[in-house]
Amino acid sequence: MGRSADLVVLGAGPSGLAAAWRAARRGLSVVVLERAGHVGGLSASFEVAGVRVDHGSHRLHPATPPHLMADLRGLLGDDLQTRPRNGRLRIAGRFVGFPLRAGELARRLPPGLLAGVARDTVAAPLRGGSRTSPAGGGAPGRADTYAGALRASLGPALYDALYAPYAVKLWGLPGEEIDGDQARKRVTADSPWKIARRILRGQSNGQGKIFHYPRRGFGQIVDALAEAATAAGAEIRLGTACTRIEPAEDSVVVHTSGEREAAAGDRIEAGRVFSTIPMPALARLVRPGPPEEVVRAAGRLAFRAMTLVYAVHEGGRWTPYDAHYLPGPETPVTRISEPANYRISADDPAGRTVLCFEIPCAAGDEIWTTEDFSGLVRETLAVSGLPPVDLADVVVRRVPHVYPVYETGYAAHLAGLDAWAGTVPNVTTFGRLGLFAHDNTHHAMAMGYDAVDSLTSAGWDVSAWRAARSRFAEHVVED
Ligand SMILES: Cc1cc2nc3c(=O)[nH]c(=O)nc-3n(C[C@H](O)[C@H](O)[C@H](O)COP(=O)(O)OP(=O)(O)OC[C@H]3O[C@@H](n4cnc5c(N)ncnc54)[C@H](O)[C@@H]3O)c2cc1C
Repeated sequence: MGRSADLVVLGAGPSGLAAAWRAARRGLSVVVLERAGHVGGLSASFEVAGVRVDHGSHRLHPATPPHLMADLRGLLGDDLQTRPRNGRLRIAGRFVGFPLRAGELARRLPPGLLAGVARDTVAAPLRGGSRTSPAGGGAPGRADTYAGALRASLGPALYDALYAPYAVKLWGLPGEEIDGDQARKRVTADSPWKIARRILRGQSNGQGKIFHYPRRGFGQIVDALAEAATAAGAEIRLGTACTRIEPAEDSVVVHTSGEREAAAGDRIEAGRVFSTIPMPALARLVRPGPPEEVVRAAGRLAFRAMTLVYAVHEGGRWTPYDAHYLPGPETPVTRISEPANYRISADDPAGRTVLCFEIPCAAGDEIWTTEDFSGLVRETLAVSGLPPVDLADVVVRRVPHVYPVYETGYAAHLAGLDAWAGTVPNVTTFGRLGLFAHDNTHHAMAMGYDAVDSLTSAGWDVSAWRAARSRFAEHVVED
């Protein structure tokens, strides 16, 4: 079957949906192809034991640009709530509240760690490092690594207590094998880590205290985007994967295979394709494909996977906190969140709650293939000094592409692949997976808007897109 559209969007995460909505509002005919059976990608919500849950802890950060915030408020109305952050972070074997309070830190942190941070703070000018200097302390010849950059900017005491063990858990590599870009793109954020550093240095600026969150789970954002895109005329095809992309001079042909009979073997001739799927996956779909060296480089870009374990606790709310951050090596779990504490909703049952355990892993490894997580749930709570759960059920979700891994040397592999992608006629790649970036939902949405704004009646505006890409390079990820 053949048909045509002005725009085909690959992927119905927030970047693809934002693009589809904006393009459809402009009167373009839009088809969105989504391999999964639901919209939203990593930002989707679903239900476990009658409770809406997310793919790990998700918040809409106050850094969301005002024009996106206005659109989301228009879509969600009063359902988009503004909430105080109320998390806890485990450091040196004890919990400190988040947002952090200087007095509590001084009381709770072991004197050895406080003294180390104080020493590092005094010695900071001597280390000569800054988070923006790419040389792990500025010394000539030293590799630009995550460990080097953070030891230089934060000091060894805080790095060793928090970041070093957390890096191994999140990305599966020691900080010495992770590129310094990782520190610059993520740690500059108003994360508990940065705020800890600020407060320990007496520089609290009061940020990071609130977040926005929809009453029916974070996924209400993407559901509303999908509904608005459909209302504006876009067609969203779920359970439909793109199998081949054939660019031509003035158009591009997209082949699909889908579970739905209508989508199987379909062929769409489009004016342009926006791809938000992983960039290496795009390289495998385009015919003719990239040169051999680009294929090899693409194969060396790694994504970290995640196993999400949802523990159903019978017995009311588990704690009053929204999230517990667990950077230490005692457990592979990096964070435990309690979605019902992110919102005020009469829909949440009074006698039951669900906890989400985030366990970064590699697809196919021991965690990925584990079937019964009830032991790990109980052990994690015990070794972390957290209350036990009255476990009624455990539900597991496995997500293969979660964090891009910035292993040292990644930038050269990515640059080759990105340069090739830039030469494919009538195809544009963006989004968190499409640009191999750690970005937040508001960044992903901004990319979708910018892509549509580069699609003018006169054709693709190369310089507008180049300017947009420069803006994306400045994105800093919020935790
Ligand atoms: C643990 C965790 C916590 C996070 N917390 C926050 C937070 O607190 N705040 C925040 O703003 N952001 C957070 N994020 C980031 C947020 O989830 C992402 O920024 C956002 O979902 C990215 O949107 P996207 O559209 O670029 O990609 P995705 O959401 O990944 O969507 C890509 C879509 O493409 C589809 N797809 C893939 N391959 C194909 C194919 N071949 N054909 C068709 N479709 C395909 C996928 O199924 C998916 O639906 C978090 C992420 C993680 C992993």
